[in-house]
Amino acid sequence: MEHYLDNSATTRICTESESALIDALENYYGNPSSTHKVGRMANEKLRESREIVAKTLSAKPEEIVFTSCGTESDNTAIFAGAELNKRKGRHIISSSVEHDAVLKPLEELEKRGYTVTRLSPDGTGKIPVDSVIEALRDDTALISLMLVNNETGAVTDIKEIAKRVKIKDPNVLIHTDAVQGFKKVPFDVKTCPVDFASFSGHKIHAIKGVGALFVRNGVRIKPFLLGGGQESGRRSGTEALAQIASFAAACQADPQIEKISKIKNYLMDEFKKIPEITYIETEAPHILSISMPGYKSEVLMNFLEMKDIYVSKSSACKQGKRSHILEKIGLKNEVIDGALRVGLSRFNTKDDADALISALKEARKLAHR
Ligand code: PLP
Repeated sequence: MEHYLDNSATTRICTESESALIDALENYYGNPSSTHKVGRMANEKLRESREIVAKTLSAKPEEIVFTSCGTESDNTAIFAGAELNKRKGRHIISSSVEHDAVLKPLEELEKRGYTVTRLSPDGTGKIPVDSVIEALRDDTALISLMLVNNETGAVTDIKEIAKRVKIKDPNVLIHTDAVQGFKKVPFDVKTCPVDFASFSGHKIHAIKGVGALFVRNGVRIKPFLLGGGQESGRRSGTEALAQIASFAAACQADPQIEKISKIKNYLMDEFKKIPEITYIETEAPHILSISMPGYKSEVLMNFLEMKDIYVSKSSACKQGKRSHILEKIGLKNEVIDGALRVGLSRFNTKDDADALISALKEARKLAHR
């Protein structure tokens, strides 16, 4: 039996999302820009989907721009946000534990003359609120901080940060990469005064190839893609309606957070009993970063795979490299080298947790032989 515990890399599509996908493929195949009936039907489906996604965030439908993935949403927010506020200044605040979809655009902006302050996390990967406020400068144009860290599950208090920043300087634009936090921890744009927020469909059981960017009303971004003027001129290209409908259905589906939390707590309780295993205690219900210092992640992963158990070696995008996130939070190399990320979803059960626990116990015994 397969035990898929790599849901922070990607998730299996859920039935709600799959049904919506097939329905859109079969019945809403028109181009939403076409003015005939088939086009109008597709356009209506697009409108409905946008409304659903917006509602999940307490946003207005016109504040949602559909994209192809979280990476595109992050890139758009960062480049467009920096461009929009360049008269205010060329200083950006972010952190050293962001995903590459944020770090790489920031590196590019540095090459173009921007200065980036990368805040350091505490021991769990969390960015202290005060450090953001202290880093503010008159020429700060943009802040980009993730809602939930993809490797540790640390939750940034983005609401408090955004509120305090906006009181001090309402002209600073704020972006949050909410790709890992969406539908996992409380987040809405009514109570959290960010200007941009990034989302990705495949992390919440929708099909791959769709994401969204929240852009607050009044924030006028310069588009990346020019063409037919779709998405109110903010992202041209015929809308991927079936993917978008799949994303909307996933937004409506119950993520079963209570169940996921219980499994995470159970894993932590059991790992506490195994002296060779350490883990980082964080607030997100679905991510647990564990380590068996002295054992290599790759070896552990291969061993787990033989038992049909799938986790990842820190972030799935970091093939072969030591995790920059675990390094930044100050873990020793031997802890980082033995690190595994467990990513839970509504499809996981206690059986998956038990399989992982007993396999790691076995791995430990084999190594001691
Ligand atoms: N941001 C975070 C925090 C992520 O974890 C990921 C994917 O792992 C991304 C952005 C990129 O999202 P996507 O895979 O949809 O491009």
